[in-house]
Amino acid sequence: MKKCHHCLEELADDATVCTYCQRDPDGPPPAGPRGAPVVLTDIDIPVGTLVVLLLKIAVASIPAMLILSVLSFILSAAFVSFFRF
Ligand SMILES: [Zn+2]
Repeated sequence: MKKCHHCLEELADDATVCTYCQRDPDGPPPAGPRGAPVVLTDIDIPVGTLVVLLLKIAVASIPAMLILSVLSFILSAAFVSFFRF
């Protein structure tokens, strides 16, 4: 018995084509996460899902904007007090 490199199913030793995935069981194993680059050809999601996603991103950016505004206020106050304008 040998295993198909693609679907990991058990095959006969003389099998040249996998009976489960119809591919060459001795062929190169499928590329892992670091294998072939992922090519995104189309984003096929409904408009409602896209709107919800964009709203979530907008809501998630509010705390980041607050933190950045507080940091910029602190830095500008330190700058002003250092140079005593
Ligand atoms: Zn297979």
